Amino acid sequence: LIELRNIEKSFGDFKVIRGVDLDVDKGEVISIIGQSGSGKTTLLRCINGLETINAGSIKVSGVELSREPKQLRALRLEVGMIFQQFNLFPHLTAGENVALAQIVVLGRPKMEAHEIAKRNLARVGLLEKLDKYPHQLSGGQQQRVAIARALAMSPKALLCDEITSALDPELVGEVLAVVRSLASEGMTLMMVTHEMEFARRICDRVVYMRNGIVHEIGTSSEIFETPQTPELKQFLSAMK
Ligand code: ATP
Repeated sequence: LIELRNIEKSFGDFKVIRGVDLDVDKGEVISIIGQSGSGKTTLLRCINGLETINAGSIKVSGVELSREPKQLRALRLEVGMIFQQFNLFPHLTAGENVALAQIVVLGRPKMEAHEIAKRNLARVGLLEKLDKYPHQLSGGQQQRVAIARALAMSPKALLCDEITSALDPELVGEVLAVVRSLASEGMTLMMVTHEMEFARRICDRVVYMRNGIVHEIGTSSEIFETPQTPELKQFLSAMK
């Protein structure tokens, strides 16, 4: 579904991504782990077209990501992204937040957008919060609304960038439970996470990034139980 070939990304003279190859199959759940600054977030932003790459190619469903704005918009619809900060509109209810982009970006009729919003709020277990405003919801619930908003655009894959990092520890579980249910529904997921135990349990494959390259990649048991490189071994023991 997603094919990365030798992608590179620099900010000024600083090469953040230094040649990454990766194929993500439909329905695969991949986590990206690694030290702060290793390029994890930048990699996701490149895949979503939020950053333009300096070299290499990115294909989604066989279609190369171009720099042409219209095609970029089409790609962003196929690959949803969820961030650490939920970025909900404070003056809109949960239902309106989930409906808005469908109306503005996809041009869906209002009634249909609201129906789809309801269905996706139900999917994240928040149908009863349809008419609540963000300030009436906990951080975990707000993040689940943000997930519903991404799902309402019917993406082929979801990119999750440290989506539990801004949450109080007691709220992390409910968001991870939603991610787990999406994974079991067959959603293709790429997630940058510091939740090692979660990555170990639900991910098909784990990518360990270091200094802008894929330093080690394998199934979650290969990465967590039999890491090959001293760098990954050291990283994992520091995370314990
Ligand atoms: P973290 O776990 O801390 O989020 P990360 O592995 O996701 O780290 P990135 O956020 O991808 O790392 O950043 C990689 C490097 O690129 C960092 O050194 C960062 O300072 C730099 N960087 C990221 N975005 C920009 C930007 N827009 N302009 C300049 N430098 C940037």
